[in-house]
Amino acid sequence: MNTTVMTYEELVKVIEDSGRPYNMEMLRKAYETAAKAHGNQRRRSGEPYISHPLSVAALLVEMGMDSESVAAALLHDVVEDTNVKLDSLKSEFGPDVAHLVDGVTKLTRISFSSVEEQQAENLRKMLLAMSQDVRVMLVKLCDRLHNMRTADAWPPQKRRDKALETMEVYAPIAHRLGISNIKEELEDLSLRYLDPIGYEEISTMLGKNGGAQQFITGISDKIRERLAENGMTKCTIKKRIKSVYGIYRKMFVQNRSFEEIYDVYAVRIILDTVAECYNALGVIHDMYHPLPNRFKDYISTPKPNMYQSLHTTVIGHEGIPFEVQIRTWEMDHMAEYGVAAHWKYKAGVQGGSKTARLEERLAWVRQLLESQRDSDDAGDLLRDMKSDLLPEEVFAFTPKGDVINLPAGATAIDFAYAIHSAVGNRMIGAKVNSRIVPIDHKVVTGEIIEIITGPADKGPSRDWLNIVATSEAKNKIRNWFKKERKEENIAEGKAALEKELRRNLISIPEADYDAFMAEIARRQRMNTVDEMYAAIGYGGLQLSRLMMRIKEEYNRMMKEKDPKVAFQIPVKKQKNTDGVIVEGLDNCLVKFAKCCNPLPGDKIIGFITRGYGVSIHKRDCINVRADGSDPRWVQARWDDGVKESFKSTLEISAMDRSGLFTDVSALLGDMRIPIFAINARQTTDGRATMIVTIGITNIEHLNSVIQRLRKVKDVTGVNRI
Ligand code: MN
Repeated sequence: MNTTVMTYEELVKVIEDSGRPYNMEMLRKAYETAAKAHGNQRRRSGEPYISHPLSVAALLVEMGMDSESVAAALLHDVVEDTNVKLDSLKSEFGPDVAHLVDGVTKLTRISFSSVEEQQAENLRKMLLAMSQDVRVMLVKLCDRLHNMRTADAWPPQKRRDKALETMEVYAPIAHRLGISNIKEELEDLSLRYLDPIGYEEISTMLGKNGGAQQFITGISDKIRERLAENGMTKCTIKKRIKSVYGIYRKMFVQNRSFEEIYDVYAVRIILDTVAECYNALGVIHDMYHPLPNRFKDYISTPKPNMYQSLHTTVIGHEGIPFEVQIRTWEMDHMAEYGVAAHWKYKAGVQGGSKTARLEERLAWVRQLLESQRDSDDAGDLLRDMKSDLLPEEVFAFTPKGDVINLPAGATAIDFAYAIHSAVGNRMIGAKVNSRIVPIDHKVVTGEIIEIITGPADKGPSRDWLNIVATSEAKNKIRNWFKKERKEENIAEGKAALEKELRRNLISIPEADYDAFMAEIARRQRMNTVDEMYAAIGYGGLQLSRLMMRIKEEYNRMMKEKDPKVAFQIPVKKQKNTDGVIVEGLDNCLVKFAKCCNPLPGDKIIGFITRGYGVSIHKRDCINVRADGSDPRWVQARWDDGVKESFKSTLEISAMDRSGLFTDVSALLGDMRIPIFAINARQTTDGRATMIVTIGITNIEHLNSVIQRLRKVKDVTGVNRI
């Protein structure tokens, strides 16, 4: 392990070797400030503390990072560990460096209570969100890398904790940022502490093959030579030895023996054209003996994630198998930066999940980091990329250390409901970082939020519906009211029914009451009497209609009890308000069939349903089969003079354009047409379809609406559905 003490002179040497221009005046000052601040502090290993920031700075120079990042690396521990204040860094080094140091300090202060799989992804995203400027994360990764390199000095438990955190959180972040060398080193260093025996076993096996690097270099030189002989002079060959952890995963997760892992060594050949790829494959199979069943042509059959490449495994002359991947530059780019990078250039693909958007942004960072390594002026690009990596998400902690992930703009109430609906329903206040805040406090990434709860029966306030930002919280609040109202509805419905019974002089004998109501409820297709009361309470069941049933049932019951009873409650005939007259049936419950939504003026027919009254269809509805075989089909006609509103649903087809939706709704508004539902969507070919449900009085009225809609610009068709 690298435990050598780093000096400023050595850092300067690394900078000179990089051949890049650095602001040496600033870096010298940063070094002096840090050296003075850390003073006589020593690391656990005994070396002067300043050696650590110097090493981190050197790693950043090797990564090709800019002067500000390197200065921040030198200063990264002074705010946390010494008396130096952020303000003085700001005046000495400018806001940029101060901001970077502040970011790293904030990341350092977060300690994870546990790294469980489901929390790990949230933690990773939260750290990315907290770093805002991606350079913060890069400094942090180099800091962690150097700490892990020197972790032997830590006590065993701390070593294991840090190793687990590194494995679960930091290595995957490095992976997402495309810094594979740091990712692999972090994993290997962590594995050393998490499974020392497994690590040792694999290192030994890799060592047995002696001169791994020499082996792979020898192979790639030979391949380059042979490809050139075959006219492929412009190829690029990348060589790779699988990391210890990579082998470990295959051995312990996929249960393979070391000998069964054929890609411990791999070379990747990158060429200009697909034709060259297949040519190169021929050359390789000519040079080396291919292993059976190991050839994969992902060029002609790409993987579902669009990955393309030729894969083959061959046996080297030393008897050691190695994998060969052959692909074009374009395919290589796709594989490195992912589908997200590809999508970015394709117009018309929008949205996607939050994860897809994060991946897209990270792909962009990967590209920048790549160009950073290859050219001198990419630093400016990276510096300009101040963007939040996750502008649409925020992450906050519960006091227990669980991370809650919310959309940006979410409030403390959303946070409470995200923990549990019971926490939200009982919420009376919130504390952020131990200070009381208003409950509509907007959550900021990194905050520790404590929800103060009161007695269980208090419940949310109706105003909260206007405050919360998540649909989860909204639904939970609505549910509470629905459930709560249910109790009120039952009480109200029961009271209303009892009052109506008294008004009608109906007194059901106490002993029969429950059975009587249960029977009435059953006839109303209600599961319970309470359900019937609730329905009366919220108006879903008309009391006047129900009273007719009750009177009939009451009369029947009384007659049964005493056949000689003279008094009968009069059952008044009700006027049919639905505007439909059904032949032979007075006072029947009428409803309009959803399949054809008949309107006054349409020719109609009725169907006697079982228990749900008469359903009215249009005569030409496809569901009508009134051939006389089923007596349940009955004649029906409109009662003249109805002036009620009926619902009708229209499908509007149009060429898509902006403002279309507004024009249609404005027209309906002008005509004073009530809109019950409206739904617009784009279809693939630049067209749009709108489904509107409106209220109209009769068929003539509807026809006039359709005529007007057809005249709206770009509308190609209006149909009743
Ligand atoms: Mn540090």
